[in-house]
Amino acid sequence: MLSGRRSSAVLSLIVFFGLFLSCATTGPGGKKSFILISDKQEISIGNEMDRQIRETEKILPDAGWQYYINEIGQKIVAVSDRRGLEFHFAVVESDQINAFATPGGYIYIYTGLLKKINRESELVAVIAHEISHVVGRHGVKRLQTILGASLVLDLALGEKSETTKNIAGAALGVVMSGYSRSQEYEADEFGLIYMNRAGWNPQGMTGMFELLQSISGHRDAGFFEMLSSSHPQTSDRITAVNNLIPSLPRIPNQVLDSRKFQQMKNKLP
Ligand SMILES: [Zn+2]
Repeated sequence: MLSGRRSSAVLSLIVFFGLFLSCATTGPGGKKSFILISDKQEISIGNEMDRQIRETEKILPDAGWQYYINEIGQKIVAVSDRRGLEFHFAVVESDQINAFATPGGYIYIYTGLLKKINRESELVAVIAHEISHVVGRHGVKRLQTILGASLVLDLALGEKSETTKNIAGAALGVVMSGYSRSQEYEADEFGLIYMNRAGWNPQGMTGMFELLQSISGHRDAGFFEMLSSSHPQTSDRITAVNNLIPSLPRIPNQVLDSRKFQQMKNKLP
């Protein structure tokens, strides 16, 4: 516990920083959240996490796939509520059925998951969901809770690379252990809005969950963000998504699948 004087000092610092940092837009319709970690610090955390991830994971040595994933990703980012952030997309060569995002906009999709996906709009649903975790600052919010105000202030006040390194380590743990149930629903909702806006058929999100449901019987080591027990039931997510689809603006000629996706799928290792 903090002493009375210390806690009031911390509180006034939070209020002080709050004046500058509390106005972050974290979702469609101008949704705002109280964010203490600045974009700049979030980017350094993501950068450090990316360095650590690349030490253990093998990036698929296929420039065509990396280009394709990035092309889709940037189209979603362009209609998202975090256009000012530079996003990075990477395909990881691994049999794990997995995909995840780090704070700062680094997104990884595993070939194990790509091999299971049947249509382009299902892939877009995964990417849009991951982008939405970054738009909603889900990793950052969990870090703020876990680290507590004083460490976050340490990060905000100093630019110590050691602090960033340690926090990136903690952040990896956060991302690997999964987000909260409400954050998952939020990422599904934002993802659906963004993929619809960008011109893909939102039914791809339903298709993606049905796919996950069909393979969840024989769950591999990794399974889409290393599904933890806190994850909502896939059937509940399908219901939530199907309830949202009729409320989306109708956009003509949306893409459900493409020849390009099938060509790309055929050249997966
Ligand atoms: Zn998620």
